[in-house]
Amino acid sequence: MDRYDVVVIGGGPGGYVAAIRAAQLGLTTACIDAWVDAAGKPALGGVCLNVGCIPSKALLDSSHLYETIGRHTKDHGIAVSGLSLDLPSMMLRKDKVVRTLTQGIAGLFKKNNVAWLAGRARLLGDMRVSVTDRTGAEASVITASHIIIATGSVPAALPGIEIDNGLICDSTAALAFSEVPRRLGIIGAGAIGLELGSVWRRLGSEVVILEALSEFLPGADFEIAQAAAKELARQDLAIRLGCTVTGVTVNGTDLRVAYQKDQGQHDLAVARLIVAVGRRPNTEGLGLVECGINLDGRGFVEVDDRCRTNLRDVFAIGDVIGGPMLAHKASEEGMAVAETIAGHATEVNYACVPWIIYTWPEVAWVGQTEQSLKTNGTRFRRGVFPFLASGRARAMGETGGLVKILGDAESDALLGVHIFGPNASELISEAVIAMEFGASTEDLARAIHAHPTLAEAMHEAALAVDNRTINL
Ligand code: FAD
Ligand code: AMP
Repeated sequence: MDRYDVVVIGGGPGGYVAAIRAAQLGLTTACIDAWVDAAGKPALGGVCLNVGCIPSKALLDSSHLYETIGRHTKDHGIAVSGLSLDLPSMMLRKDKVVRTLTQGIAGLFKKNNVAWLAGRARLLGDMRVSVTDRTGAEASVITASHIIIATGSVPAALPGIEIDNGLICDSTAALAFSEVPRRLGIIGAGAIGLELGSVWRRLGSEVVILEALSEFLPGADFEIAQAAAKELARQDLAIRLGCTVTGVTVNGTDLRVAYQKDQGQHDLAVARLIVAVGRRPNTEGLGLVECGINLDGRGFVEVDDRCRTNLRDVFAIGDVIGGPMLAHKASEEGMAVAETIAGHATEVNYACVPWIIYTWPEVAWVGQTEQSLKTNGTRFRRGVFPFLASGRARAMGETGGLVKILGDAESDALLGVHIFGPNASELISEAVIAMEFGASTEDLARAIHAHPTLAEAMHEAALAVDNRTINL
């Protein structure tokens, strides 16, 4: 077939979800994806499944287990001896998790009748798309009634610092080190820098993270950021704020990172360096400008609130349009666009996108922070509950962190929920649902939470908004 109702470019969490939803809605759908795995085989799932969310979580979970067994079983009365790290097996496990999931998407495509075209897409104009194979030869030209651009993002580089994936790496290479670096430098204390730093610290590296901003996690609530900074420092994850990296010199195996702090020039010697300074939209060679599709000043595809570009039948979703560069945001946009194309009225509620940083304890939040409410002049009430006072957290030996709930001072509407604590990534879903349903803090306070659970900390924080917490 060379004509489809919907052609999706990119098979990451934005693109593959859009393709499946479009097919479910009865639209003939193709998904073109250029990803090839380390063995040179086409693989669906984009950055998220291949070199992002999934492999990073596999390594975070393995390294967390390693650290727990090595350091924390004694408190539970369990003595362990002869613990050792088998890094190649840990990496093989991670690769297997990735392979199982990417192959799963191929299965889902088959089941839903989505045509998977492995190759690189380029827009030719007049709703035609060329697909080239790995040699650059044109394999086919297909025509679409609607096009969804979901080409994602690639790691951003720093001027003058060449990422060779030897000593100087991006996040992709940092998920596949063959040995634990003795001293590891990381540029950037965002989610990716903190997660990779946590993995390698737990496995034995001495980790130093250099961050240009003087504030830690500026997007998070300040109280949560403060608690996380304190705990991560206690874990020996050295995060140096206000340090702008200006260059790197490599002399054989001697790697030195030059940075500026307080007007002074400093340098840091490390065995390996990860550059984790953000990601940029992936639009190279896609033919967007040639087809008259508008990009913004930073190169993201410009879209309206329904993810429609300036060309009526061309949509864009996920990392390539900017906003929160998160897999679940991309997938939500994918579903919404497929439904819009099929004639349904759907939109994404950007006010309820959860943010998570998978350190341990984890950082998770949804909605507004205390500082953003103050800036907007919104009057609010706050309730805080520490995990130290949670029975379940005590039983688990996980008493670090807190839950903070912010409600509107007049209407009591839930405005933001912020967690630093064990399983925060799971706990935050309750807050997302509550906010989606327009709940008040009292609604959360009145809902029965099972005992003993970590979720009771949410309940108590909601009670605390009205100064009626019980267990503190
Ligand atoms: P992508 O996943 O980037 O997929 C785009 C796809 O399009 C790729 O397969 C690419 O090969 C293909 N493509 C590009 N150009 C073309 C072309 N011309 N023709 C054909 N195909 C093309 N997010 C979370 O929500 N949670 C996490 O825990 C998380 N962890 C992360 C950890 C790391 C280390 C990294 C790097 C990212 C992480 N992210 C996480 C971010 C997440 O991976 C992205 O937000 C998500 O992958 C974006 O999805 P997407 O569909 O927009 O694009
Ligand atoms: P994120 O955008 O959340 O992935 O985080 C990337 C982080 O890298 C941000 O906190 C930036 O402030 C930081 N960063 C960017 N450039 C530099 C630099 N030259 N030196 C140190 N940190 C940087």
